[in-house]
Amino acid sequence: MLLLPILGDQLSPSLASLCGAPRSGSVLFMAEVMDEARYVPHHKQKLALVFSAMRHFAEERRAEGWQVDYRRLDDPNNLGSLDSEIRAAAARHGASHIRMTEAGEHRVRALQATIEGATILEDDRFLVSPAAFTAWRGLRKRLRLEDFYRWQRRETGILMEGDTPVGGQWNFDAENRKPLPPGLVPPPPPRFAPDAITREVIAMVEARFPKNFGTLARFHWPVTRSEALAALADFTRHRLPHYGDYQDALAHGEETLFHALLSPALNLGLLTPRELIDVALAALSAGSAPLNAVEGFIRQILGWREYVRLIYLAEGPEYLRANMLGATRPLPAIYWQGESGMACFDAAFTQTRDLAYAHHIQRLMVLGNFALLAGVDPHALHHWFLIVYADAYEWVEAPNVIGMSQWADGGLLGSKPYAASGAYIARQGNHCRHCRFDVKAKTGEGACPFNRLYWDFIARNEPHFASNPRMGRILESWRRFPPARKTEVRADAARFLATLA
Ligand code: FAD
Ligand code: SF4
Repeated sequence: MLLLPILGDQLSPSLASLCGAPRSGSVLFMAEVMDEARYVPHHKQKLALVFSAMRHFAEERRAEGWQVDYRRLDDPNNLGSLDSEIRAAAARHGASHIRMTEAGEHRVRALQATIEGATILEDDRFLVSPAAFTAWRGLRKRLRLEDFYRWQRRETGILMEGDTPVGGQWNFDAENRKPLPPGLVPPPPPRFAPDAITREVIAMVEARFPKNFGTLARFHWPVTRSEALAALADFTRHRLPHYGDYQDALAHGEETLFHALLSPALNLGLLTPRELIDVALAALSAGSAPLNAVEGFIRQILGWREYVRLIYLAEGPEYLRANMLGATRPLPAIYWQGESGMACFDAAFTQTRDLAYAHHIQRLMVLGNFALLAGVDPHALHHWFLIVYADAYEWVEAPNVIGMSQWADGGLLGSKPYAASGAYIARQGNHCRHCRFDVKAKTGEGACPFNRLYWDFIARNEPHFASNPRMGRILESWRRFPPARKTEVRADAARFLATLA
C-alpha cells in the first residue's frame, strides 16, 4: 500500500507525487489540522478557501476512482498536526511506503523531513527549478529580476523571435503606469457563489475562528479547478486587454481594476503558471490583447513569481529575520482597525478585511510604503501580510514583504527601496481627492502623512543609502535642504509618528 499525503496547497491533479501512482494500491491522504490553521491567525477567507478547495479536490479524486482518506478539522479523532496525522494514516492503512511532494515553506519542509522513510519529490509545478537557479546565480555578479526574466525568456522561448524579444523590447513597464481615465469602468471579476461544501466550511470557520481577522460575507473565490479555469477565461477576455495600461493604477472605489485575482487559485495549485502564460500568449496571437498587456502579465508570472520563490528557497529561514534598516516600530493599530483618515490606506485596509485581497500597488505603494516610511519592524509587517491575504504563503509573501517592500534584505531582491511620498499616490490615482489630508502640503497637521514621513525616512537611513547609486539623487536633494528646514521636517515626522498607536 502506497500512502500519498497531499498538502492543502498541492491541489493539482498533475502533482509530482500523484503522477504514475497506481490507483489501486494507493491511498490519497489529506488532513485539515489545527497546527496549520493556527500557525498564524489567518484571515477567515483564507481558511475557508483552503478547506473548501481541499474538500472539493478530495471529492473530485474520489470521483476519478482514487481511494481517499480525508481527515476533517472537526473530526474528534483529529490529531492536530500534519506529521502525526500522516504517521497515523500510514499505520491505519498498513502503508509500505509514503510518497509526498515537497512543501513550499521551510516550516513544512522541516516537518516532512521527520517522516521516516518517506520519499519527497521536487515540486515541478514551477517553471524554474532551484538547481537551475543556483547554477545561473553562480555565474553572476549581481542578482536582478530583469536579468532573471530575460534568461527565462531565452530559455523558454516565451515572447521571443529567435534571440530577440517580440516587439523589440524586453519589457513595456514604461507603458504600464497610466492612471485610470474618467469614464473607464473596469469589468468586475466573476463571483463564485459558495456551494454546499463551501457554506459548511464557512460555518465551521465562523464557529471555530470567530476572532480571526476579516469577514466572510463577500467570499467569492474559485474553489475548484473548473471555477479557477472560468476565472482565468474571464480575466483573459475582459481584463487582460487593459492589464498592462493600468497595472500600477490606484482608483477610489475600484477594488480590483484590471487585475487577474488568480493568485489564490494559482498558489493552491488549481491552476499552473504555464496555463496562465499560454492563455495570455493565445490572446496576443488572436489579437484580443496587446503586447504591453501580455508582456506585463507574463513578467509577473515567469519573472516575479518564480524569482521570489527561488530567492526564498535559496536564502533559507534566515531571510525572514533580515532587518537591514534596523526598523523596530511595532505594527500600528491602523493595520488592524483602519480608520487612519488616509483615503488610500483606508481603501486598501477595507478591501483587505472584506475580500482578503488588495492589488499589487496597494500592497507595495500604500500598505508597504507606509510601514517602510514609518520604520515598522519588517518581521511584524511580514506577520501581518501572511495573515491577511487569501493568497499568502510564506514562499511568496516573505520575499515580497521583507525584500521588495521593506528593503530589509539590503537590496538582494530590489535595487532600491520602494519608498514614495504622496506625490506618487496622487499621480497613480484619485484617492487624494477623497482624503482629509492635503497631498500638496509637506509638513504640519493637515499634510499628507506620506509627505510628512518621506524625508525623515531618507534622513534616518542616509548611511544605508550612501553607497547605493540609485539613491544618489534623492540623497543629494536631502543634503541641499537648508538646515532649519531639515530640523523642521524631522520634528514634524516625529510629531506624526508619536500619534501612531
Ligand atoms: P495580478 O496583478 O493580476 O498579477 C498576475 C499574477 O502575477 C498574480 O496572480 C501573481 O501570481 C503573479 N504576481 C504578480 N506580482 C507578483 C509578485 N511580486 N510576486 C509573486 N507573484 C506575483 N503574492 C502572493 O501570491 N501572495 C502573497 O502573499 C503576496 N504578498 C505580497 C506582499 C507585498 C508587500 C507585495 C508588494 C506583493 C505581494 N504579492 C503576493 C505579490 C502580488 O501583489 C500578488 O501576487 C497580486 O497582487 C495578486 O493579485 P492578482 O492575482 O490580481 O495579481
Ligand atoms: Fe494617501 Fe496622502 Fe493622498 Fe491622502 S493625501 S490619499 S494619505 S497620498
